[in-house]
Amino acid sequence: MPNNAITTRHSKNYNRTFKMFKSSVYNLQEASKDQIQDFLNSFDTVLSDCDGVLWIDNNAIQGSADAMNYFRKLGKKIFYVTNNSTKIRSDFAAKAQQMGFIASQEEILSTAYLAAHYLKGIGFTKKVYVLGSNGIAEELKAVGIRHIGVGPDLVKPDFKSMQPSDLDPEVGAVIVGFDEHVSYPKFMKAASYLASEECLFIATNTDERFPRGGSIVVPGTGTLVRAVETCSERKALVLGKPHDYVRKFLESCGLDPARTLMIGDRCNTDIEFGVRCGFQTLLVLSGVTSNKDLERLRNEKKPPLPDVVLPKLGDILSLLQS
Ligand SMILES: [Mg+2]
Repeated sequence: MPNNAITTRHSKNYNRTFKMFKSSVYNLQEASKDQIQDFLNSFDTVLSDCDGVLWIDNNAIQGSADAMNYFRKLGKKIFYVTNNSTKIRSDFAAKAQQMGFIASQEEILSTAYLAAHYLKGIGFTKKVYVLGSNGIAEELKAVGIRHIGVGPDLVKPDFKSMQPSDLDPEVGAVIVGFDEHVSYPKFMKAASYLASEECLFIATNTDERFPRGGSIVVPGTGTLVRAVETCSERKALVLGKPHDYVRKFLESCGLDPARTLMIGDRCNTDIEFGVRCGFQTLLVLSGVTSNKDLERLRNEKKPPLPDVVLPKLGDILSLLQS
């Protein structure tokens, strides 16, 4: 694509915005140094997904920490926006710091935190049945909301013997997140609580898979959410990307959509989220969406497509130096 694909929406005297054709994908590797500089000048806030953009499991993706720290050095406001619900914010910040990212708890927006923030915000006082992990439990505890359900659930002698007395009458909400101890009794309990119309149904996210690569597929939280939606015959309020709650939360922090860049490795969560919110979007190919996937989406003209693309986030620094 020619360099004139880069346009600015306003003159230099005003907020300068680097905006790519919405209908096509531009490889930032083909941009000149000046154009990269224009790109960097076009946003004040950086929202970055974590898994697949900054790291995979406990391994940092090469150059990502330097790139994020460079954005910060340029004065950008940073938020780490993750659909992962397994950790509390301080643990995410510690993990990021260990890998070389400058990060504070206040900059982490995880779905466990959002779930607790949401319930606190509506004045919820009952108990939560958590089909999820410790991250959700700890974030609920931090805002004074009681919870049950985390960890293995072995109904004795077997699930067929479950009785109404096995249900806690104080439960007023079910939260579904990632749960490595997911089991048939847990589905029974979640659906039984949700049989009451007053019981709130919240899901952290609906990601289909975790980024891993190779031939092993690691089912994501969406797998569990869809299962509970099916057996409860209800639809969950989903808080994570690409849904609305994250945007509302960020807007309450004073974010300006036109001056915000969303970086992600998945088109159907990160890029979809960015497009819905009116942010600029950068897709990196170091996680779930591969170059082949992107080519297919482009050929099928299947939105959401990112404004710009890079193989990995760290490449932006090499482009400035080259
Ligand atoms: Mg990701």
